[in-house]
Amino acid sequence: MTPPAPLAPAPPRRAPAACPPHSCDVVVVGGGLVGATLAIALARHGVPVTVLERDAGPVPDLLRGELVMPAGVAVLEALGLLPALAPHVTPVRGVELRHPAWPRGPVAIDYAATPAPPGVPAAAWAPRGLCGWRRPLYEALRAAARACPGVTWRDGWALDALAREGDRWRLAPRRSAAASAAASDRRPDRRPDHRPDDRPDLLARVVLACDGQQSRARALAGFAAVEDHRATLVQGVVARGPGAAAFAARGRVVVGAHALGAAFAFPFPDGRVRLTFEHALERRAEVEGALGPDADDAVARHLDLVRAALPDVWADLGGAALEAEGPLAVQPGRTLVLGGVVREGLALAGDAAGCLDPFSGHGMALGLQDAAALAAAVSGAVAGAGTVAGAGDGADPRSLDRALRAYEADRQRRLLARREATAPLAWSFLAGADPLAQALAARVGDAWSCPARAPLLGPALAARFAGFDLPGTSPGLALAGLGLLG
Ligand SMILES: Cc1cc2nc3c(=O)[nH]c(=O)nc-3n(C[C@H](O)[C@H](O)[C@H](O)COP(=O)(O)OP(=O)(O)OC[C@H]3O[C@@H](n4cnc5c(N)ncnc54)[C@H](O)[C@@H]3O)c2cc1C
Repeated sequence: MTPPAPLAPAPPRRAPAACPPHSCDVVVVGGGLVGATLAIALARHGVPVTVLERDAGPVPDLLRGELVMPAGVAVLEALGLLPALAPHVTPVRGVELRHPAWPRGPVAIDYAATPAPPGVPAAAWAPRGLCGWRRPLYEALRAAARACPGVTWRDGWALDALAREGDRWRLAPRRSAAASAAASDRRPDRRPDHRPDDRPDLLARVVLACDGQQSRARALAGFAAVEDHRATLVQGVVARGPGAAAFAARGRVVVGAHALGAAFAFPFPDGRVRLTFEHALERRAEVEGALGPDADDAVARHLDLVRAALPDVWADLGGAALEAEGPLAVQPGRTLVLGGVVREGLALAGDAAGCLDPFSGHGMALGLQDAAALAAAVSGAVAGAGTVAGAGDGADPRSLDRALRAYEADRQRRLLARREATAPLAWSFLAGADPLAQALAARVGDAWSCPARAPLLGPALAARFAGFDLPGTSPGLALAGLGLLG
């Protein structure tokens, strides 16, 4: 038997050519509320931008973001985005607060009492908030960003690695799990001109990280938190009720105190209302006790909590005729404050740059203001046709750094101002029967229901609830605004 002929050596397999990364000026990581708005704002300023978004399919329908305060709405309006959002939102003109420790009853705060900004005629000044679902709001913003000339939108790519290379950032995204699953269901594209996306890496001069509370970009770039805690939980449902349309027509979000926490009624479009309940983490066992052991009953027990805190709102909405759509959703509230939000050529924005407890209600407005401020900062540092300063065109390489540092100072100041404005109120609503919280609540309620005693209080309060800064606002003024001084 002849021995088998030796196997011919296999022809050397050609290693895939090392693919150079895509080079671009500005990359936005995360195409949520803030990333999508920022991409549109940059493109409108003439700065081309690439967006990496982890989601490949529909936006997850999370319980977060029911009310965009007027300061955020102003950003959307300036970008001409309100018509696209209008079908998904209900306008609100203020907030009504109810606390059992307030002897003179509810306090109504009208956004319109906010002083008009310099240069805006009083007659043209009509600040309003918007209430609505997160999913259609995000989808409308993403659609607007994808359609915006100058925006390159890459769905299904999650940032996975980030490193500084010379004067640029190298970003390595990977296909997100959802995108890979969707791709494996599709047959490979064999068109001769088809290029699979085999060069996912990007080299960017500027990275703007808008990838939310759990920001991967923030972790990869090594930003440190000076404060990070989860102190509350928020649970809620969307409900239909015969009185929901009339409630929406009143144009107010209503907040009520309960021994276990705070209840919120947000008017929603199409005869619906979002009813949520926020409570301190350490009261979860009591709240779960109130919800009962049976998950099927949890929604009904949740509506009971809302009824106890806001009995007349519950009755106006339809009382026992209220019908919840879907199960009870629960989300943690988080407070995250960072030591800084900018590195060389990189800035954090929106929740990635820090967030406040949901009671504050300022998250979306803060993030939208970030988008407007960052777009102005980055575009102001652009020299020539869409090239960031320092690109070898003779422009001052320090101008981008200065602009980002100015953004950082302003962002940190805004976050702390919003926190200072809302933390004592949150405590007085969330601390239940705590005697100090009750005393604080009584003092605040007393001051707020007598604006005649302090004529500047009404405008200052309205500005605070709308998310605007009043010129010259100081901690002293803020405390006076809470009725705690004088
Ligand atoms: C319970 C609750 C209620 C709230 N209610 C309100 C309210 O009524 N009003 C208000 O103003 N604010 C509210 N907030 C806060 C508000 O939801 C946030 O401030 C806001 O949604 C932040 O938007 P964002 O775009 O910064 O982040 P997100 O909305 O989290 O968007 C981040 C985006 O980044 C993408 N992403 C994440 N990781 C990666 C990655 N590695 N690579 C690429 N993309 C990535 C995500 O898919 C997402 O699209 C609430 C928050 C909570 C928790």
